[in-house]
Amino acid sequence: MKQYVYTFKEGNKEMKDLLGGKGANLAEMYNLGLPVPNGFIITTEACIKYYQNNEVVTEEVLNEINNKLKELENDTNKYLGNPKYPLLLSVRSGAKVSMPGMMDTVLNIGLNDEVVNGLIETTNNKRFIYDSYRRLIQMFADVVLGFNRNLFEEIINNVKNEKGIQSDLELTEEDLINITNKYKNLFKELTGYEFPQDPNIQLMECIKAVFKSWHNERAISYRKLNNIPDNIGTAVNIQSMVYGNFNDNSATGVLFSRNPATGENKLYGEYLINAQGEDIVAGIRTPKNIDNLENDMPHIYEELIKYANMLEHHYLDMQDIEWTVEDNKLYIMQTRNGKRTAQAAVKIAVDLVNEGLIDKEKALMMINPNQLEHLLHPKFDPEVLKEVTPIAKGLAASPGATTGQIYFNSDDLINAYNTGNKNLILVRLETSPEDIEGMNYANGILTIRGGMTSHAAVVARGMGKCCISGCEDLIINETNKTLTTKDGKLFNEGDYLSLDGSTGYIYENELKTIAPSLTGDFATFINWADEISDMRVRANADTAKDTKQAIDFGAVGIGLCRTEHMFFGDDRIMAFREMILSDNNEEREKTLNKLEPIQREDFINIFEVLEGKPLTVRYLDPPLHEFLPKDENEIRLLSEQLNKSITDIEKRINELKEYNPMMGHRGCRLAITYPEIIKMQTRAIIEAAIYMIKNNKEANLEIMIPLINDVKELKYLKGIINTEINNIITMEQVDFIYKIGTMIEVPRACIMADEIAKEVDFFSFGTNDLTQMTYGFSRDDAEKFLTDYYNKNIYKNDPFVTLDPYGVGSLINIAVFQGRHNNSNLKLGICGEHGGEPNSIEFLQQFDLDYVSCSPYRVPIARLAVAQAKIKKII
Ligand code: ADP
Ligand code: MG
Ligand code: MG
Repeated sequence: MKQYVYTFKEGNKEMKDLLGGKGANLAEMYNLGLPVPNGFIITTEACIKYYQNNEVVTEEVLNEINNKLKELENDTNKYLGNPKYPLLLSVRSGAKVSMPGMMDTVLNIGLNDEVVNGLIETTNNKRFIYDSYRRLIQMFADVVLGFNRNLFEEIINNVKNEKGIQSDLELTEEDLINITNKYKNLFKELTGYEFPQDPNIQLMECIKAVFKSWHNERAISYRKLNNIPDNIGTAVNIQSMVYGNFNDNSATGVLFSRNPATGENKLYGEYLINAQGEDIVAGIRTPKNIDNLENDMPHIYEELIKYANMLEHHYLDMQDIEWTVEDNKLYIMQTRNGKRTAQAAVKIAVDLVNEGLIDKEKALMMINPNQLEHLLHPKFDPEVLKEVTPIAKGLAASPGATTGQIYFNSDDLINAYNTGNKNLILVRLETSPEDIEGMNYANGILTIRGGMTSHAAVVARGMGKCCISGCEDLIINETNKTLTTKDGKLFNEGDYLSLDGSTGYIYENELKTIAPSLTGDFATFINWADEISDMRVRANADTAKDTKQAIDFGAVGIGLCRTEHMFFGDDRIMAFREMILSDNNEEREKTLNKLEPIQREDFINIFEVLEGKPLTVRYLDPPLHEFLPKDENEIRLLSEQLNKSITDIEKRINELKEYNPMMGHRGCRLAITYPEIIKMQTRAIIEAAIYMIKNNKEANLEIMIPLINDVKELKYLKGIINTEINNIITMEQVDFIYKIGTMIEVPRACIMADEIAKEVDFFSFGTNDLTQMTYGFSRDDAEKFLTDYYNKNIYKNDPFVTLDPYGVGSLINIAVFQGRHNNSNLKLGICGEHGGEPNSIEFLQQFDLDYVSCSPYRVPIARLAVAQAKIKKII
């Protein structure tokens, strides 16, 4: 027969699923011999059963509760409802995963008029007894019946006001008797009946209330936010009471075995003398810092240090402990692994290894890789954030915090930069590749439209810049250069805003930020990850500056160097536009040649930073129309500069317009029409590499062709590239090794991978496009309707964020398998946004890829995720 109720003696810390986290740990501590008031636990299965049984506790469970209650009575020699030896109880919720403050607790169950009188005779401590009784009435009304606790607080506050006192401690026994009577009256007024005197009814009502609290609004939204399943239920802990409000030799407190904000190995916590349970959180009295306890109660302080130490050694992690002192005797009420900041998490993990408590693998598993993000971007001073209210909220597209003056287009922003304003924010309806320069000069980007994988979001993440996208709370007028909030607050060019890309909140004015670095414990910790991993981490970086950042964060090379930006910039865009507008091949080639030395210089700069680490260069990818001007003014300017008629230019712009540019003339398709472009890019890259070699430096080059869907495309382009390279090599008379590979980002390429693999040295999965084309969801528009998919429980998460293991994953599987089958030397990597996402990395681990590549700022996150994926695979 299934057991639904366990005594503390029957439980242990491994039983979290059944007994909840709180219950399992109470049982564990009880059995370790710690001073834990005895009790029993109703299982999560009983909670699930309660819901299956139309919210009625079954006979079977009821019987078990009664049996365990009798056992507890015998053990404590106290009896529920007995006026002379009353057993008093707490009823506490506790799910498998801790949901702090989300569900309910009731204390002092078992008190009624008769028991109160009995207790007065035995303890002669009326103040304490009535304080406990009034608390029971208040908690019962609140937790069981749903009446706002403030209705009761008001009564206390009135009494305090009448007497002109501040603290609950100053209330006398008469005051508390008076308050208790008023509470009883209010209870009757609210419910129409007297406060229940039968302790068994009190107990059962509270147990049911805890079951029900599983479905309160707070708990439901907490679970949603933290990805906790709805169907696991909560356990109920029934525990004999001890009293922190017994007298001035009593106290209640919380204690962290190490500092949860900094990680420092020093007790951290607070307490209140003569108080019960939740007074600390309630904030009615200001608690004292734990350091004072050494003076207030020296032997209790000693004992707490001992237990904190013991629990840390037992659980092998920092503990968050709740404790109570009743008349000079210490009780431990709860322990759990403490929540902590990213900074503290890293320090604690490293310290625990150095102290010999845990090994490196366990340390690496202690931190959620995404939590490291907080250490990799500037952030707002948390103290400052407490003082301000956001003016709007958008999508938290790229983390970090920035504060600066707003500008509504790249040119204005760059002008501002050149006049000396360095803290700038680019605000756009949405961005396109022509905004890249402006984005580069800006510290933060704000767009009104666009999702998490919109242009602005992807580019900003690549640059490690803070970005908020899709902020529909704000109205933009790009012509007048204004931004208006919903309440009509107006912001003009040059006004200050502060963006928090980690939360999506936008604030007015300048807020103070704090900067990131990979040093000290953080560096030590991340280096341990590399000791364990097989897969390596590269970065997606397009400039020497980003490359430097990536290397500083531990990237072993560049997995994706997008060359688009090399065509923007004042010194190059003209030549490239001239090329696009050219009438014949010859003219085209001539104009492109102007770009070659500039691009060569770009590549040399990147090679210099890489010092022999591999550089994967992808040829020009976006459609040409993105490079042409859109507004009249710019077209006129271009016509003057290039000496072409406005009509000719407009005609060409029209010719280049596409219904669906994402599936249009882009990637390798461009190179098939305009081989001059890849010829020029090839020369620039190869000459840069040869320059390095001639200067006795290394150049480790991997050339990558985008958007291939057939081996014939690849062969054609490879032919052009190789011819170009061979010409140069013959001319320069240098020996030079390079690799040629392709992105695999079209479903057909995955299916045809066997043929393609024969022609290349490597595959790099471009999972952004691959996801887009596998689903047929546009990357730029999917955000708009995916919300409906989540709300209707059709999809759980965004496939552009977490790699779809089924569809896209199967295609990758085919490509990996067939690719390796036909080319045993094939190198494999991934360079989509998924390359820096821990769940996707865990999925990709099975393919033994050579590397994942992600934006420079995610490199440390990916390094940890790769190590964790490996550790999970071994276990
Ligand atoms: P939460 O999960 O919100 O922390 P708890 O169940 O831990 O709720 O209860 C809150 C507080 O109530 C505890 O920290 C403790 O101080 C007090 N408490 C709970 N049970 C008892 C008990 N049996 N005796 C004394 N105090 C208790
Ligand atoms: Mg607690
Ligand atoms: Mg692509």
